[in-house]
Amino acid sequence: MATPTISGSGLTAVETCPAEVQEILHAVTTGAELTFEQGVILAMAQDAALEALVAVADQLRQQTVGDAITYVVNRNINFTNVCFVGCSFCGFGRGPGAADAYSLSFEEVVRRAREAWERGATEVCVQGGLPRDLDGFFYRDLLRAIKHAIPEMHVHAFSPMEIDYGVTKTGMALRDYLRMMKDEGLGSIPGTAAEILDDRVRKELSPNKLPAGRWVEIITAAHELGIPTTSTMMYGHVEEPPDWVRHMLLLRTIQKRTGGFTEFVPLGFIHENTRLYRHGGARPGAKREEHLRVHALARMLLHGAIKNLQVSWVKLGFEMSLACLQAGANDFSGTLMEESISKAAGATFGEYVPPEEFRARIRSIGRVPAERTTTYKIRRVFDKPENDPRTAAAQLPMARTESHVTYTESAY
Ligand code: SF4
Repeated sequence: MATPTISGSGLTAVETCPAEVQEILHAVTTGAELTFEQGVILAMAQDAALEALVAVADQLRQQTVGDAITYVVNRNINFTNVCFVGCSFCGFGRGPGAADAYSLSFEEVVRRAREAWERGATEVCVQGGLPRDLDGFFYRDLLRAIKHAIPEMHVHAFSPMEIDYGVTKTGMALRDYLRMMKDEGLGSIPGTAAEILDDRVRKELSPNKLPAGRWVEIITAAHELGIPTTSTMMYGHVEEPPDWVRHMLLLRTIQKRTGGFTEFVPLGFIHENTRLYRHGGARPGAKREEHLRVHALARMLLHGAIKNLQVSWVKLGFEMSLACLQAGANDFSGTLMEESISKAAGATFGEYVPPEEFRARIRSIGRVPAERTTTYKIRRVFDKPENDPRTAAAQLPMARTESHVTYTESAY
């Protein structure tokens, strides 16, 4: 592959860090696929080694995807917060009798999707809790309702946990179920419910959640049927750095087999309103260095496999997002309109950011904003501020059902 290409500030940073880290950083820039052991060394990087990791990840990003920072204009629609699964890291799920339990009608979901379309959204991201009494074909019918009303809207919907639930409820075979959803217009699947793909860790987070092997099976089947998915990892709770490495290497293996991941999204654990943290079972989310380490590590370990690395601004906030976009990431995720997700667990971000604000923030670090589709086709590059559209979309009002605290899982 390419000859060594560390240069500029990256080279200076590399020269000041320990020899074993230098060796790994040089190896990755020449196209070497990093091993688990090399990944763990990078995952523990501190001080000069972390600085070098960040610098080289940024350079690798530049060489792989250039200087554009992409985003999608989308809307999240979380159709219910009623859920029996009881993940300990979740601040969103409610019992059916809770005072703030809600379920949106199909009409309301379609109204929101239509409103989003009229304001320039190309995607709706549709996920929810898992109510016990859900009809077997609920997900299909909801999808059908949206696609019937707005055929061109990309529907990015239903996590592997929800797909698994639909399969169980209908009694269909997994592939038949996925084929049915694809035929109904399912555009892509969020790679949520991944948390850490290791059953030892999953048992601590959520013993009722689908096992890691089932997540892989569903994702792989979706890819093989031509349904792309994202991939995610939740960090900053009970896991250790080697768990990140194992998780990322598993995603790399899947991607090499299927090519179906559009991106990887590290999701920092938002701890405040969660049982996991309150009962002393987890650390209080990641700090700045850990956020940088995880994003830069992902760029290194997924190099040559998954080229898009997304920041979740809802969880990180803008300042930290911009730092991670200079540590290997290249995608700013979605504008989300009203985002009804992360605040339940204590996040302070996540309602609505107009595209013009995304563009201004991207330019503030000397990069080029570009609007993309869900599957990373570039819709428009905003290389000259003077050519930007003049009119700003009005902020959408928060619906009453969304003014409750919201959850951590699916803002991507
Ligand atoms: S993370 Fe999802 S599945 Fe788990 S309790 Fe919350 S809403 Fe339910």
